[in-house]
Amino acid sequence: MNGHFVISLDYEIHWGVFDKRSVEDYKQNLQNVGLVIDRLLELSKKYNVKLTFATVGFLFAKDKDELKAFSPKNKPTYNDKKFSPYPMLDSIGHDENDDPFHYALSGINKIKADGNHEIGTHTFCHYYCHIPGQNIAQFDDDLNSAIKIAEKREVPIKSLVFPRNMIDPHKAVDQPILDVLKKHGIASFRGKENSFIYNIHITKFYKNWLIFKVLKFLDAYVNITGSNTYDVFKINNDKSLINLPSSRMLRAYSNKFKKFESLKLKRIKKGMTKAAKKNEMFHLWWHPHNFGAQTEQNFANLEEIFKTYKSLNKDYNFESSTMTELTNKIKASL
Ligand SMILES: [Zn+2]
Repeated sequence: MNGHFVISLDYEIHWGVFDKRSVEDYKQNLQNVGLVIDRLLELSKKYNVKLTFATVGFLFAKDKDELKAFSPKNKPTYNDKKFSPYPMLDSIGHDENDDPFHYALSGINKIKADGNHEIGTHTFCHYYCHIPGQNIAQFDDDLNSAIKIAEKREVPIKSLVFPRNMIDPHKAVDQPILDVLKKHGIASFRGKENSFIYNIHITKFYKNWLIFKVLKFLDAYVNITGSNTYDVFKINNDKSLINLPSSRMLRAYSNKFKKFESLKLKRIKKGMTKAAKKNEMFHLWWHPHNFGAQTEQNFANLEEIFKTYKSLNKDYNFESSTMTELTNKIKASL
């Protein structure tokens, strides 16, 4: 089996950051998401790269009435209320024309029409599986809503990305969450890098979270945690639900650290090359809104990555796959 290049995009617009920033605070990035989607489709076509859009369920709604009609009765009861987007529904606009920060049916339809990519789920309400106060029945209902609203748009949901990557697939305590995915016919999800700097909330170091934020930042430029490529055929013992762990988040172009942009790209290309040579998977991800500012520079970086993919595809048959395409190959290899 050849190496594989997987790209997942957490498509969420304001629903991915509502608990941290207002639309006004982050307007430039958010208002350009539609344009970013157009350019992603265009560039991926040029290099024949497949993308998986892990899409927040709210974005599928044609208007607020539909969003409310698909909302579960049993909503997440986080102890800290700021994590629930439902109270915000009163203040958002009626539909995408009125409020492109909270609806995205036109973008979803473009991805669907392109035909080369996958639309997966990022849960219905950007659900936080590790935030205290919510429970598994609420997650189950949330996922049910995500699948139902996508079904209305004729989008079958087969893959999932957990908001804020809140999943520890190797811990017994998270097994019920994975069981909910299986129950709803989800075949794969994006896990995390193995290094403990990406898993601090489950370690005794949690109090030192700032140090780990810095380490994660540095890891984007210099090698701290290795390439994070995976033999996905070997790591998945449970074929009923495939883990396609993250190799790297593609950080947005940084004006402040622009001198180091080439180091960041070099690190990604090195990981891709290792995966291609060793027949492993390299899984890159980010959010479309990360490209909403410094859009030209971000797309120039992405084009360099795509060029690397092209040459690895030629030299090593390194293949671009959606999450579900790769999942199907893993399942068929048994
Ligand atoms: Zn998210």
